[in-house]
Amino acid sequence: MSDGQDRRNDTPLVEDRLGTRARIFGTERAVLAGIDAGPGQGISIEESMRELESLARTAGIPTLASVVQKRKRPAPGTFLGKGKVDELRRAVDELGADVVIFNDDLTPAQARNLEGALSHKVIDRTQLIMDIFAQRAASKEAKLQVELAQLRYLLPRLRGWGAAMTRTGGGIGTRGPGETQLELDRFKVKLRIHAIERRLKKAVSERSVRRQQRSRSDLPQIVLVGYTNSGKSTLLNCLCDADSVVGDKLFATLDTMVRRGEVSSGRWGLFIDTVGFIRRLPHDLVPAFAATLEAVRHADLVLHVIDRARSSWERDYRVVLGILEREVFREEDRRPTIVSVLNKIDTVVDVSTDDADGVPISAKEGTNVDRLLARVAEALFPDDRVVELLVPFSAIGTLHEQTTPERVDALEHTGEGIRVRARLSARELQELTAAGAAFSAFAASQDGRP
Ligand code: GDP
Ligand code: MG
Repeated sequence: MSDGQDRRNDTPLVEDRLGTRARIFGTERAVLAGIDAGPGQGISIEESMRELESLARTAGIPTLASVVQKRKRPAPGTFLGKGKVDELRRAVDELGADVVIFNDDLTPAQARNLEGALSHKVIDRTQLIMDIFAQRAASKEAKLQVELAQLRYLLPRLRGWGAAMTRTGGGIGTRGPGETQLELDRFKVKLRIHAIERRLKKAVSERSVRRQQRSRSDLPQIVLVGYTNSGKSTLLNCLCDADSVVGDKLFATLDTMVRRGEVSSGRWGLFIDTVGFIRRLPHDLVPAFAATLEAVRHADLVLHVIDRARSSWERDYRVVLGILEREVFREEDRRPTIVSVLNKIDTVVDVSTDDADGVPISAKEGTNVDRLLARVAEALFPDDRVVELLVPFSAIGTLHEQTTPERVDALEHTGEGIRVRARLSARELQELTAAGAAFSAFAASQDGRP
C-alpha cells in the first residue's frame, strides 16, 4: 500500500484507502437502486430517481436501468431485500453495467455486503455527489473543501473498510493486525483533516489573487445555476455549439463545462455550467458545494434555471436565492445580475398566470431562447447603440480593435474613409471618436444586426 509520500499531487488520501472502489469514472455505466418508503418523503420516488439519474449524468455516467423496492425501511444487511438484490444482480449482469448507485446513504456493512452480492462496485448518493464536486472543483479552496468532506465521510467508515481489507487478520478477542492498521488509518486521516483545515484558512486569503486573474479575461461570464434536473446542461447545449468548449487555463478542470456562445450578433460570452443545487444535500457537503460554485461569485450574469414543471417551483426559486445569498456570496462581493429562467414550459399547460420576473422557455424545444438571449444582452451590454460613423483611414485599426466584423456594416467608401453602421458600447464609441471617427447618426434599430 502506498504511503502519503508516494501520492500524486492532488490525489486525495481517500483513494489510497479505498482504491477505486469509492470513485466513479466517466467511462462507466450505472444501474440505479432505491427504496420507495411511501408518501411523506417530500418528493415522489420517481422524481427522486430522476434526480439521481441527473446527478449521474452530471458525473458523466449514463444510467442503464433503475431498480426500486417498496419497503418501509432499508434492510440492515443489504439495504434491499434478498430477492431484490438478486434481481439487481441480474440487471447489472445483463446490461453490462459497471457500477450500482444507491439513492440513499449506505452503512459500511451494507456497502460491503452489496459489493459481495453484486460483484460490482457499489456507491451511495453522498459518494456520487462528492465525486461530482471533486470533478468540478476548480480552485484550490474548492479542492480542499471537497477532500475535507470526503475524509470526514470516510473517518467513521474506516472500521468497515478496515475489517474488509483484513478479513484474514487476527482472531476473535485478539488485537490483530487489522486493528492496528485501523488505528493507524484513523490517525493518518485525522492528521490530513487538520492539515486541510489549516490550508483552507490560507486559501481564503489567496482568493483576491484569483479575482485579478479573472478580470483579465475579456469575455463576460454567464453562470448557470439551479437545482439538479432543472435543465442547465440542456440550456447550455442550446445556447452554445458543441464544439465551442473553452480551454481557458483559468478553468483548467472545468473546461468541458465552459463554452463560448453568441449573446447577440457579434457579442460573445462564456457560458459556465455548474454542479447546481442538490436536494437532500448532506450537511457536511455544504462548504464543498459552496466552493464549487466559485464561478458564481465572479460571474457577470447568473442564469437561474428553474424547473417550471415542478409544483414547488416557486419555493425552489426562493430557496436557491436564499442559499446563494447565505453560502455563496461573500460580504465583500459585488452581486451579479440574476436572470430567472422558467424552463420546461412545453410541459406546463398554463404559464400565463406567472408573475415572476422570469423568462419562460423550453430548453428542449428551443422555445423563447431568443427572448432569453435578448435579456442577457440587455443586462451585459446595456449601453449598446447602433450608430453611423465616418471612420477615417487612420482610424480603421481602432475600428478593428474595438469591434467584431458581425457588428459593423460598411455603407460607403469615400475619399476620406469608410462610412459604417455599427453596434457599439458607449466606451467603444468614445475610443473611435477619440481616434478621429465622426459620429453622424443613431440608427433606429437597437437590436439584431446593425
Ligand atoms: P441539469 O441537471 O440541470 O443539468 O438538467 P439536464 O439538462 O440534465 O436536464 C434534466 C432533464 O430534464 C433531462 O432529462 C432533460 O431532457 C430534461 N429537460 C431539460 N429541459 C427541458 C425542457 O425544456 N422541457 C422538457 N420537457 N424537458 C427538459
Ligand atoms: Mg447538468
